Amino acid sequence: MSRTIQSAERVDIIVVGAGFGGMYAVYKFREEGYNVVGIEAGGDVGGVWYWNRYPGARCDLMSVDYSYGFSDEIQQEWNWSEQFAAQPEILAYANFVADRLELRKNFRFNTRVTSARWDEEEKLWRCTTDDGAVLEAPFCIMSTGPLSIPKDPDIAGIERFKGPIYRAQKWPHEEIDFTGKRVGLIGTGSTGIQITQEVGRKAGEFFVFQRTPSWTLPMRNHDLDEAYLAEMKANYPAMRAAMKMNPTGGTRPVSTRPFFSLPPSQRRDVMEHAWLDGGHTFLACFSDLLSNQAANDQVADFVRDKIGEIVEDPEVAEALKPRGYPIFARRPCLDTEYYETYNLPNVHLKDCLKDPIVEIAENGIRTESGEVELDIIIFATGYDALTGALLAFEVVGRGGVLLKDKWKEGPRSYLGILVEGFPNMIATSGPNGPAALANLITIAENDVEWAADLIGHMKKQGLDAFEVTKEAEDRWMDEVFRLAEPSLIRKAQTWWVGSNVKGKPTGLSMYVGGFANYRAHCMAAKNNGYSDLVFDKRAV
Ligand code: NAP
Repeated sequence: MSRTIQSAERVDIIVVGAGFGGMYAVYKFREEGYNVVGIEAGGDVGGVWYWNRYPGARCDLMSVDYSYGFSDEIQQEWNWSEQFAAQPEILAYANFVADRLELRKNFRFNTRVTSARWDEEEKLWRCTTDDGAVLEAPFCIMSTGPLSIPKDPDIAGIERFKGPIYRAQKWPHEEIDFTGKRVGLIGTGSTGIQITQEVGRKAGEFFVFQRTPSWTLPMRNHDLDEAYLAEMKANYPAMRAAMKMNPTGGTRPVSTRPFFSLPPSQRRDVMEHAWLDGGHTFLACFSDLLSNQAANDQVADFVRDKIGEIVEDPEVAEALKPRGYPIFARRPCLDTEYYETYNLPNVHLKDCLKDPIVEIAENGIRTESGEVELDIIIFATGYDALTGALLAFEVVGRGGVLLKDKWKEGPRSYLGILVEGFPNMIATSGPNGPAALANLITIAENDVEWAADLIGHMKKQGLDAFEVTKEAEDRWMDEVFRLAEPSLIRKAQTWWVGSNVKGKPTGLSMYVGGFANYRAHCMAAKNNGYSDLVFDKRAV
């Protein structure tokens, strides 16, 4: 007897998410002739760039890198205005792609997947959505994004505050007027830094409640002129090919020179040059900054000295200097006069390491030393990252196993793409890939194309279900942990290791071997004829 629910709608492929991964997945599979439906909680395409509309939001990867390479028409038609694009331009780009490829006709927006269950008998995924619909498809692509589930701070009294609380990760669509207002910001990661340098200049009084100071380097953003764009456009094919062989999935060069291979004065010159050049140039200067603590310490001292030179009040400068964890072990931020903002008379740093927040009160934020009265509070307190979105709804695999049970000690997968026990489910930019450590658009393109090759292979061979073996998944995870072991990234408390969410399993389970090596593993898996997977042959 068939267990198919009568009202279910049958398609070939369900894609969850309309960020850059989901957009490409929908396009790719539709072009290959499949009936694809994309489901997205937001009102339109763009993923994190749809939600993150806070003042100052900007990508710190170069815009020509952080863009699709799969369509030469798109990269030839689109013109980036700045080296590091701001959120409105990135969202405009996502909309341009959606218009150009007519993606919206395949998406259901303002719709959230509430459960996804594998039906072993029917060999299909059955997804329910919050509008009561049921969709069935042999394949389910999870393009849910590594940074999709906002995290409020664990502070008592949030509901008591009388004024508005704005969350960076779900920012209102209308502009907010900060003029003359007393504004308090909690959070000093990439998001909080961008908000500070923007809102700090506009608010009446601006209070930054900083717990852990982040490392940030000058972005030195600039407009892109026509000659540069023309050169990029002429070189896009070679550039995209090079990005696939680069550890960052971008065009930033990679150094093979260890820090101590240069004499001290030359090391200093290289660092001065990197500081003036801006962007992530530091990471391209030396090969061992994330593996040699002594080298890392010297770069950290150099950056701390720079903070001391910029910030006029020595006490504030001291509080802004990160200590106790390696530089680059927390996502390095790029800023535009962030430290200079603290020289403004209306901007005040509240050092919560010395004077912790006790609660949020009706009229402000109370620390151990007293209350700061505020009109507006902003949370820039990060995400339940990497696994949060995949565990935010019920995902049930073979034998009724819940993904959240399988991952109770931390995420385990094969290439960050497939999960043992979850047949025909494919994740893009999944938690055991290079997700946060390389260009997410390059990773998403790789993963979608890998998935399309796999499904194409199955179609040709008359196969209707795949599952990665436990041995292959264990082998991948052993490799992930082997590479993570010596990495300095493990020494910081961050979303990279899951320590920002209470009760979440902690540990570095991202692939730190670089995008190029990751891609080589993906290619080998395909070229080996998918020998790490077991398949079911279609009944004829
Ligand atoms: P985040 O890096 O996780 O930072 C969250 C901040 O909130 C931390 O400073 C944290 O302090 C603070 N916080 C949390 N709970 C707190 C509490 N109870 N009291 C005081 N402080 C508290 O999050 P994010 O800044 O949103 O960045 C997340 C990621 O998004 C980035 O790493 C990056 O990958 C991406 N991003 C990129 C860009 C860009 O391209 N420029 C911009 C924005 C975001 P503790 O560290 O002490 O917990």
